[in-house]
Amino acid sequence: MNAPVPKSSSDPRAKTARHTPMMRQYLGAKEQHPDALLLFRMGDFYELFFDDAVEAARILELTLTSRNKKDDDPIPMAGIPWHALNSYLPRLIEAGRKVAICEQVEDPRAAKGIVQRAVVRVITPGVVLEEAALDRRDHNHLAAVARRSLRGEVGVVWLDVSTGERRGTRVEDVARALAELGRIEPKEVLVLDEDAPLAAAVRHAVGRITVTEVCAPAAGLGTDPLEAAAAIALDYIGDTTKGGALLLRELEIVEVERHLRLGTAAVRNLELIRTLAEGRRDGSVLALLDETRTAMGSRQLKRWLLYPSAEAATIGGRHDAVQAFVDDPMTRSDIGEALAGVYDLERLVGRITAGSAGPRDLVALASSLERLPALADALNATGHPALAALAARLDPVEQASTLIRRALVDQPPLSLKDGGVIREGYDDELDDLIGVARDGKVWFQQYAGGLRAETGISSLKIKFNNVFGYFIEVTRANLHLVPEQWLRKQTLANAERYYTTELKEREELVLGADDRRLALEQRFFEEVRARIARLGARVQATATQVATVDVLAALAELAQRRGWVRPELVDEPVLRIEAGRHPVIEATLPAGEFVPNDLTLDAADVRLAVITGPNMAGKSTVMRQAALIVLLCQLGSFVPADRATIGLVDEIFTRVGATDDLSRGRSTFMVEMSEAAEILTHATRSSLVILDEIGRGTSTYDGVSIAWAVAEHLHDVIGARTLFATHYHELTELAATRAGIANLSIAVKEWQDEIVFLRRLVPGGTNRSYGIQVGRLAGLPEPVIARAREVLANLEAAELAPDSRPRRSLGGGERPDHWQLELFAPSPTDSRLSEALADVDPDALTPRAALDLLYRLKALAEAESG
Ligand code: ADP
Ligand code: MG
Repeated sequence: MNAPVPKSSSDPRAKTARHTPMMRQYLGAKEQHPDALLLFRMGDFYELFFDDAVEAARILELTLTSRNKKDDDPIPMAGIPWHALNSYLPRLIEAGRKVAICEQVEDPRAAKGIVQRAVVRVITPGVVLEEAALDRRDHNHLAAVARRSLRGEVGVVWLDVSTGERRGTRVEDVARALAELGRIEPKEVLVLDEDAPLAAAVRHAVGRITVTEVCAPAAGLGTDPLEAAAAIALDYIGDTTKGGALLLRELEIVEVERHLRLGTAAVRNLELIRTLAEGRRDGSVLALLDETRTAMGSRQLKRWLLYPSAEAATIGGRHDAVQAFVDDPMTRSDIGEALAGVYDLERLVGRITAGSAGPRDLVALASSLERLPALADALNATGHPALAALAARLDPVEQASTLIRRALVDQPPLSLKDGGVIREGYDDELDDLIGVARDGKVWFQQYAGGLRAETGISSLKIKFNNVFGYFIEVTRANLHLVPEQWLRKQTLANAERYYTTELKEREELVLGADDRRLALEQRFFEEVRARIARLGARVQATATQVATVDVLAALAELAQRRGWVRPELVDEPVLRIEAGRHPVIEATLPAGEFVPNDLTLDAADVRLAVITGPNMAGKSTVMRQAALIVLLCQLGSFVPADRATIGLVDEIFTRVGATDDLSRGRSTFMVEMSEAAEILTHATRSSLVILDEIGRGTSTYDGVSIAWAVAEHLHDVIGARTLFATHYHELTELAATRAGIANLSIAVKEWQDEIVFLRRLVPGGTNRSYGIQVGRLAGLPEPVIARAREVLANLEAAELAPDSRPRRSLGGGERPDHWQLELFAPSPTDSRLSEALADVDPDALTPRAALDLLYRLKALAEAESG
């Protein structure tokens, strides 16, 4: 919630009594919306006053002026022309501000005293209908989070007023709710003001997103957290749109267990929506995948990417359709053509329902719907059942397009006010009026011709303007020829303007007809728009189907272009990838340069792989590509591999090491540990866990100890398919202790004291870090490299190397140091560490308790290492 209006020197309330009636009206409206910038309509401008003016002037780079300049305490003021509202609004919304629009709600000419004004809408980051403030490829979600008891389930609802989308889910706890917010990425989150801890947690988690604390709706919230969240959202929308019409879909309940879960960390680390380094869409997985033709398809794809399925039937169905499109490039191109002419049906319906759609919006809707039969024909022509099923659900809502075509001309003007929107033949009275206007034109021409002949003034003209209406214009040189009965209207420098009674009569007829015509056109247009709005739900349903066809065809396009294959779904928790590639990195390299890799994990066999290799070898890449292959499969796509066999995953967990992470203020070690705790609490045998350099944020011994214990727990207790990259070579010893743990490493070749990255994942661990060689590759000066070599040689000779060198590791066959003996004993039952672990029921651990445990383990490990 934004800060209350500060009591600055320009505090408006201080001097209310002294204000003019209009400023009092302003202050009244402002009092109702203290946390919004109030745009106060005055004639052709929206004005802002006091602190609002100062802030808006800053955000919008407006000139700050003042009202009552002569006053010793003038009021700061800034304004924007009314017609420029749409270009300024997005900037205020992007700045995270709310904007209240206060309009003149009566005709100023009819007003007695000051014009009545009222706030007609509040636009907040989460409640935007204005096309200019929306990204066509993206949702604009408003979310609400609620719980009905401290330990109970949490309801999360998210909706987009511009498309009508409305979804919600119930999750186990606040942490899970925050994870949902992490993937929904709403523009604004609503939380009850009475639940301060939840509000604080949300505020902390969402960073720069607007968090609005709201009071409970008067109706009471009941006991179901999901219903409560839904009610909070609806209430807020009612408040901000002031009851304006919206067409929201039925609340679709997203059951978490039917979807692949992804936490905020996974969305970020896998760079699904934007890149880690620069936060840009370019370079993200979404950008790579998005070959869609329509805005609806683009948004649907993002939804599938963030909420992949966990159900074999859904996934298999999508793969079937993608396969059919892959097999039939002709159909795909027909479909591409049909889709290219389909506008954003969802947002068109949104504007039509809200009553803000103009004539061109309706025509766009009609022409879009008219594309659908061709789309259905193309799908049916394939004879493929998966595609025929899609075709069957494409409802072209013919009533809508027929009505629009019957009523509106093919190319209407932008604004109704320009006239000429309604087609001739739609209404008899309107036709008559159109006739009068048309005949009028001819009449004026003929009349002018007659006058020219009669007077001999060949330059005589009949002209029209809005102020004087129709008049006869005669240049100064010809004034002596003007007949006496003409009436003078206006004198110009070079000409005189006249009218005649005949001209006047005709003018009244034509102008009356014009006014009447515009009024009728307006009425018919609004009637048509209202009738279309009643078909809105059907158009929305069709929009979803169009989006689905679009996404599936786009995925096929991608699969074909990039040589992706259909993954095989199996029931056991395995992951077998042959010649897998990282889709984004592969796309940035010249063809053939990305080195494909095989990988197998099997919960019944080797379920945890420790991946070692020097920095820059490709450890992170090979792990991320495994996660992306699973994710792509489950969203319904083919995958970048020669072959892939995938047992469905319930959740992908990622933990990416401190150095690869963008720091977010908290101590990196703390972040790392709480993410590790999350994983240990929530991962199941069906999960896929990616641990990249865990333990880096602390000292070596701590780091190794924690990483070791975490790996054991994942293997022994959870049994999740796990990829564990580390630069601690000590961890390669784990494989010797468990049959289900294997070592993999990324091969490098040494050549004349340089290393060459081979990018190949091979069995076995590595025992060298090649740090100095990598440093040299990175451009460390030669003297520094030489000195580093000397130091390393000394350390190795003295056996003091902090990093376990090959000669000292268990794998090298030598006697380990004291602490290693304790920690790496093949049967750890005699270690105090494992004693401490033996009492632990991981399923019963809260993240907090897991963290405490880690601290205890750390202390033990330190004690044992003496
Ligand atoms: P690590 O995690 O081992 O430090 P990364 O996975 O970050 O290494 O890889 C470093 C860089 O190497 C990547 O950014 C990419 O440019 C390149 N790379 C990684 N894997 C491959 C591959 N299989 N084929 C080609 N280039 C790769
Ligand atoms: Mg890495």
